[in-house]
Amino acid sequence: MNKIVLLGTGGGPRIWEARSQPSSALVVNNDIYIIDTGDGVCNQLAKANLNPLKIKCIFITHNHSDHVADLGTLLLRSWQSGHKGMINCYGPNPIKKMISSYCEYMSWDINLRTKHENRPQFKSIFEIKEVSSEKKIYEDKNVKVECITVPHGEAVPSYAYKFYVNDKEVVFSGDTSINEKLIKFSNKVDYLIHEVLNLKGVDDIINKTYPGNNEFRKHIIDGHTSTEELGIIATKAKVKNLVLNHLVPTGSPKFDLDEIWLKELAINFKGNVIVGKDLLQIKL
Ligand SMILES: [Zn+2]
Ligand SMILES: [Zn+2]
Repeated sequence: MNKIVLLGTGGGPRIWEARSQPSSALVVNNDIYIIDTGDGVCNQLAKANLNPLKIKCIFITHNHSDHVADLGTLLLRSWQSGHKGMINCYGPNPIKKMISSYCEYMSWDINLRTKHENRPQFKSIFEIKEVSSEKKIYEDKNVKVECITVPHGEAVPSYAYKFYVNDKEVVFSGDTSINEKLIKFSNKVDYLIHEVLNLKGVDDIINKTYPGNNEFRKHIIDGHTSTEELGIIATKAKVKNLVLNHLVPTGSPKFDLDEIWLKELAINFKGNVIVGKDLLQIKL
């Protein structure tokens, strides 16, 4: 069954219990395409009963740690689980350098296992390709993938990805503020999987952690999309289904509640909204 699996849906770098950091999987004809690799992705993959040996590609939207913390770990543990390659990885600069540093960081372990466990060279099972332009970046028998840059504060470049699977289209927004280009890119797609921010929840976080830090508040709000803005995006783009992802504030007992998300989205969007949950599966 072709499907989208939300592996982790909690946006942000802090430590919490409620949701795993952002990562999603697209499963097409049993091949797995991963979008972002936040902390905990390996465990989430196992919980979703997805076979790591079936990972074919990994797409990174941008290099904030909540999206890329476990890219190296996912590659390493896939190799340790018996993946012989090839895993094609796409992401923005300096992703190549980051993975090269990770290989160095883990070289003690990698060298021992290569010698004692008769494995192929770790670096031979994956290839990192830095995405530097907006275009069709990947195609195989299952999917075609396009990307555009999206505005996300100082995180430049940040990408949104669109997957064509048979007659279905799925867009992953990555982290982004509201913008016309993404609205056009998402025009009438079957699923728009989009980050979302509850503004009152942001104030709650600021009051608890950095009281009076308006600069930090502005920084969060400017780089992301509020519930109100997301409703406008979904309506303008006429998306068939809107899936909330990268929910902020994650796990807040006051704000991270289905009824709150749905109520706020309903102000500007009358279509179908799915509140993302870790391990939620959506049939394609
Ligand atoms: Zn993020
Ligand atoms: Zn980010």
